Amino acid sequence: MSLGDCAAPMALEVMIAVWGGVNTALRAQLLAWYDANARDLPWRVRPAAQAAGAKADPYRVWLSEVMLQQTTVPHATPYFLRFTARWPTVGDLAAEADGEVMAAWAGLGYYARARNLLACARAVAGEHGGIFPDTEDGLRALPGLGPYTAAAVAAIAFGRPANVVDGNVERVMARLFAVDQPLPDAKPELKRLAAGLVGNERPGDWAQALMDLGATVCRPKQPQCDRCPVAAHCAGLAGGEPETYPRRTAKAERPHRHGVAYILTRGSEVALVRRPPKGLLGGMLALPSSDWRAARWSETEAMAAAPAMADWRSVGEVEHGFTHFTLTLQLLRAEGEADGVTQGGVIWSPRRDLDGLPSVFLKAAKAGLNGLL
Ligand code: SF4
Repeated sequence: MSLGDCAAPMALEVMIAVWGGVNTALRAQLLAWYDANARDLPWRVRPAAQAAGAKADPYRVWLSEVMLQQTTVPHATPYFLRFTARWPTVGDLAAEADGEVMAAWAGLGYYARARNLLACARAVAGEHGGIFPDTEDGLRALPGLGPYTAAAVAAIAFGRPANVVDGNVERVMARLFAVDQPLPDAKPELKRLAAGLVGNERPGDWAQALMDLGATVCRPKQPQCDRCPVAAHCAGLAGGEPETYPRRTAKAERPHRHGVAYILTRGSEVALVRRPPKGLLGGMLALPSSDWRAARWSETEAMAAAPAMADWRSVGEVEHGFTHFTLTLQLLRAEGEADGVTQGGVIWSPRRDLDGLPSVFLKAAKAGLNGLL
C-alpha cells in the first residue's frame, strides 16, 4: 500500500490506524537502510559509532550545514576539513579576523553566509561560553542561524525531534505522497508531510537518513526506485512517473548584467580592492570593477570608470552565473600605478596569491592575465 492510497475515501479512524501503521513501517525501513548505508562524512557520527558512545560535535554539525546550503558534499568537504583543521572549536573561529575567514570561504559562494557564520560563532563564544544552545528555539535565537540550520543542529547534534527539510527532503516527500501542487507553493505542504514522519526515536538519524535517501537514491534525475527502502510506500512510484515530482512552475529567466573588471598590474603584482561591507560579495577582495548594469559598457564609458590613468587594453570577457542574475564582465588590462579613485584603497597582491578571490574575479583574473597567474 502506498501513501497515496490513504487519500482514498475511508472511515477516519480506519485511516488514522492505517496511516499510523504505514508511518511506523516506513520509518523502520528507512532507519534500517541508514544503519547499513549511511554515508561516511567527516562531520557525521555514523550509527555504529553512536552505538559505541560517540556523539556528534555541534560545532562540526553546524559548520557543515552552513557550508552545505546551496553546494554539494564533494565541493564542501575540503572546505570543512580546512576550517576544522585551522579552527578546531567555535571559539577558535570566533577569535579569527574577518578577512582570514572570508578568504578561507572564497569559492563556497554566498559570502553573506560567511559573515553570518562569524556573527553566530562570536555569539556562541561570547554569550554562551562556547557551547551551542541545545534546543531548536535556542539555536534559532543565534544571529544568522536560520530555521533549517536550527532544526538540523537540534536533531543531529542534540537528538531533538525537529523537522529538518531541505531540497532533498522536499523532493522525497513530493514523490512519496505524489504531491501535485508545484514548487514553490507546495513548500508548506511538503514540510507538513515531513513533520508527520518525525518521531522521538533517533531524530538525528532520521533527518540524516532522509538526506542520504534524497542524495543517493531518490535523486533529482533517474531515482533509483529499484533499490529504495521505502518503495513499497511511494505513491509517486505507484503512479508510474516518480521523476516528474516535485512539480515545478516555469522558471523566470534570470536577468543579465554587464560590467567591466580592471586588471592593473605592477610587475608581478595585481591591484585589488576591498568591496564595501554590504551587498553582493561584501567585504571580499576583488578586482576593481565598474557597476554591473543591464546595458553593455561602451569603450568610452569603460575608460571613464577605470581606476587609474593607464594604457588600458581590452583582453576579452568572461561570463558568470549568480543565483539571481548572469553577468558578462568585459576585461581591461594595463601596467602602471594606481591613482585617481582608487589611490590609497588599492591592495597590491602577488599574482600567485589570487586564489582566494571570489570565483567571478578569479575567473576574470585568469582570463585577463592569459595564464600568467
Ligand atoms: Fe524516491 Fe523512487 Fe523511493 Fe519513491 S520509490 S521515494 S521516487 S527512490
